[in-house]
Amino acid sequence: MEVIRAKRAGACYGVQRALDMADEVIEGGNRAYTLGPLIHNPQVVADLAARGAEAVGSVDDIAWEAAAEGAVEGVSAAPAVVIRSHGVTPEVLDAVRGRGFAVVDATCPHVSRAQAAAAELAREGCRVIVLGEAGHPEVEGLTAWARQAGGKVDVVAGPDEIPAGLYDPVGVVAQTTQRRENLEAVVGALREAGLDPIVRNTICSATRQRQEAAAELAAGVDAMVVIGGRNSSNTTRLAEVCADACPRTFHIESADELDAAAFAGCKRLGLTAGASTPENQIASVEAFLRTL
Ligand code: SF4
Repeated sequence: MEVIRAKRAGACYGVQRALDMADEVIEGGNRAYTLGPLIHNPQVVADLAARGAEAVGSVDDIAWEAAAEGAVEGVSAAPAVVIRSHGVTPEVLDAVRGRGFAVVDATCPHVSRAQAAAAELAREGCRVIVLGEAGHPEVEGLTAWARQAGGKVDVVAGPDEIPAGLYDPVGVVAQTTQRRENLEAVVGALREAGLDPIVRNTICSATRQRQEAAAELAAGVDAMVVIGGRNSSNTTRLAEVCADACPRTFHIESADELDAAAFAGCKRLGLTAGASTPENQIASVEAFLRTL
């Protein structure tokens, strides 16, 4: 059976960077904490915890004395808190610093750029429209950075949620994982309402590139395997995209979920993985599939 990996698959730049930064802290010997799971991948989160990087709900959940006790003498001044690729609000950053933890800021540079754009629009006096999923940590961060800069902010999921009664200047930023078409629809609706929005396109292409590569591959194979956390929305969406083109699509988290019988009669098998799936997980699944 031929096993073909999608041209773009697996950990995106920001996720890989966050993993590398967390590894560096752990290897440095100090206690490390992440505010929430570092990535949406249960196996990676369990591995990080086993190696000393514990996920906590908030900085208040960390007992400073216990954290400091775990520090290796002479290695570093303070236990570290790793900020996820989604970024955090300025208040959370202040709280981490205020309690004396070392900040390891793994905010994806694309997200930092979006935070800076939201704050800049607010400073320019714009009413800031954040296009994104309300309640998502990245969106909460964008909103907070704009508010800290003095802006009034509305979070909208699409053109239907644009509030009435807006007037210029209006600025628009997008959650990095938004679809380009949705941003265009929101900007179009604002223009139709007679506004002249200042648009900062802060969308990152990683998700779209993975979906397009997966759809292309899925259309030409007998079965698809999609690797990634079931709690990862980008992996779930990737599996949906594959299933549309290839009904024999399997979303798995690791190789031990695979059943050889499910691939009976397959000649060409496609493989892809979500943006929060590290290379070692893809490689182990690929190695297993090549034995079939
Ligand atoms: S999807 Fe894009 S913005 Fe999000 S972490 Fe990955 S590279 Fe960064």
